[in-house]
Amino acid sequence: MPSRPTPPTSPHASRRWSQPGSEAPRVLLLDLDGVLVDTRPVMESAWRRVQQAHGLDVPFEAYERHLGRPFGDIMEQLGLVDAELIHRTYAEASTAASHLARQFEGVAEVLHAFAAAGWLLGIVTSKPLDRAAPLLAQLGVPFATVRTPNGVGRGKPAPDPILLALIDVGADPADAMYVGDMAVDQEAAHRAGVAFVHAGWGYGRPSTPTPEVADSPEDLLRFLATAGHRAPFLEGSLL
Ligand SMILES: [Mg+2]
Repeated sequence: MPSRPTPPTSPHASRRWSQPGSEAPRVLLLDLDGVLVDTRPVMESAWRRVQQAHGLDVPFEAYERHLGRPFGDIMEQLGLVDAELIHRTYAEASTAASHLARQFEGVAEVLHAFAAAGWLLGIVTSKPLDRAAPLLAQLGVPFATVRTPNGVGRGKPAPDPILLALIDVGADPADAMYVGDMAVDQEAAHRAGVAFVHAGWGYGRPSTPTPEVADSPEDLLRFLATAGHRAPFLEGSLL
């Protein structure tokens, strides 16, 4: 049996993507739910509707444990059949409750700072495109790529959507970092050979090996402070 190539450990990958003097574009890939936008109230409301409509007694806490995976995968993890019917109910209820979503404080400013410093920004989410797009539009940030379960490949924790995002922007895994809040995000980044930063303000806990942790969206700005790139100064902003 051929031996499996060892992906870079996260400290090694961190050193590589922050290499001073590198001309390659750096890429900041981000998860959506629990990283950019607090959609927990939306998801909880939609799951309650699913419970009522389909007579399920699976609590939201059980659903929430699997967040980050595509919806069909979560249904499989929960042992629920009729995933398509349930998803239809869930999607309708999510759309109806979308006004409950809130951007995490400072997120838009932080993303603008990365863009201004020359980073390419991308989204890798398990939220379907039709529900992700309005949330992303509200941020007003130029995303170079958005990868959702609507595209090809396997969902997280497989590395596919991260690798596809890198193909979209023409960048190496070593020049990218992925910010996520769930263990599946960390696993996907690890399997893609991309440095991972755990979003400490999200819904999950860091997994092993212990990743870099950002305590707040603003805390991500310290990853901008690499040689050759200076964060812009904007009067009156958090910078
Ligand atoms: Mg998330």
